[in-house]
Amino acid sequence: MAVKFYKSENQVPLEMHKVRMVQKLSLLPVDERLKRIQAAGNNTFLLQNKDVYMDMLTDSGVNAMSDQQFAASFIADDSYAGSATFLRVKKAIKDVFGTDNVLPCHQGRAAENILAEAYVTEGKVAFMNFHFTTTKAHVTRKGGSVEELVDPKGLLPQSNDPFKGNYNLENLRQRIDAVGADNVAFVRVEAGTNLIGGQPVSLENMLAVTDICHEKGVRSVLDASLLQDNIYFMKTREARCKYMEVGDIYRLLADHFDIIYFSARKLSFSKGGIITSKDPKFTKEMMSFIPLYEGFLTYGGIDVRTMESMAVGLYESLDMEYISQGPEFINYLCKELDDYGVPVILPAGGLGCHLNAGAFVPDMPHNQYPAAAVAAALYIAGGVRGMERGTMSEQREPDGTERYAELELMRLAVPRRVFTLSQIKYCADRVKWLWDNRELIGGLEWTEEPEVLRFFFGRMKEIGYWQEKLAEKFQKDFGDSL
Ligand SMILES: *Cc1c(COP(=O)(O)O)cnc(C)c1O
Repeated sequence: MAVKFYKSENQVPLEMHKVRMVQKLSLLPVDERLKRIQAAGNNTFLLQNKDVYMDMLTDSGVNAMSDQQFAASFIADDSYAGSATFLRVKKAIKDVFGTDNVLPCHQGRAAENILAEAYVTEGKVAFMNFHFTTTKAHVTRKGGSVEELVDPKGLLPQSNDPFKGNYNLENLRQRIDAVGADNVAFVRVEAGTNLIGGQPVSLENMLAVTDICHEKGVRSVLDASLLQDNIYFMKTREARCKYMEVGDIYRLLADHFDIIYFSARKLSFSKGGIITSKDPKFTKEMMSFIPLYEGFLTYGGIDVRTMESMAVGLYESLDMEYISQGPEFINYLCKELDDYGVPVILPAGGLGCHLNAGAFVPDMPHNQYPAAAVAAALYIAGGVRGMERGTMSEQREPDGTERYAELELMRLAVPRRVFTLSQIKYCADRVKWLWDNRELIGGLEWTEEPEVLRFFFGRMKEIGYWQEKLAEKFQKDFGDSL
């Protein structure tokens, strides 16, 4: 919640929770950080968490659980079939989304696998406002293709457009007609558009997309993984949502979309994944794949304690005091950096603050992976682990040429309810130092490049010795090694 502080102009986000369990952190000296990032092949995914001070890699599965969620996990009903735990999850889904048909699966990408199995065949097209890495991989694995129809305004790094994830509706109509409704696997809306900076989609735009889908006779799918942030933005940026109850928005969306799925590693502050639909037709079409890939229909590969936490977490996703925490901390971080002149994606979105690495190191070519280089540099500068979201996260074209990312971003995820404001300030401070020393940042080259999802396990090395120079400068400026 943003409150005004006495005799201060600035709004400061105030935590509406207190910490009742802690995890010890360590901050390694800069020469150690240099060694660790190089040993990790300059890939922040390959760092050990014990070597990280602020883990801002992702918001997935690392959100803090509430006391209520922990308490609920103890009443889990461990039975293969007919589990009371599943009934509680179903009830929570019914209460939040108003839908009766629920398929559990082990995480968000598992839901995408099921969707792809059910609806994607050779040559089918899946329309999306923007692709997500795992979604695209599942669609293309089945021989389908992905077309992105986000309004081009959404790709401007800095603007004051409140809903940069919006579909270009005219384009959607035209593309469905051009491809033919029968060749459309589904039209997917990613609410909270991850790869362009967690940017929201307006309620109006989502409803217009579903109207087009109904008119043209194609399936509509809502990826609700980041919906809680998106709903915060609807409530604060979209006039018609201001006086709506949060729950009314969830239910309105579930009324209009054929299929909703989400990663419970994000929505509901827990783990697991859910596919739900109002019309049982859709869950029936997907149901048989759940026992095949995930587990029986009452648990889908999720452990029962986690399911209980998910059920409680879903109710917490209706509470503005909880769902505002992430976006408001992110906004604070983005504002600190923007005021200093650091290029960040604006307006601030959900899930994290996104540095525009392309503008950080403007002379570095895409094939030296600017976003990965900035991520490695920030770990050296502060023990902060961010994630590359640029060309390294793309897949090469079938002929082996690089597909350059539209935006070279370095994401600093802000897991929900996890960090204190002094940690956020520390992070901002180290990014500012790096910005002032950006001319020291150099490029990276592959030493090991996997074919699929290379950003997860690929390894790179610095071009030249820029990382040693950066660490030296740090020691000089700070007078010590932390
Ligand atoms: C994280 C995410 C997924 C995948 O979920 P996992 O649980 O990590 O597999 C899918 N879509 C979006 C928008 C996401 O942010």
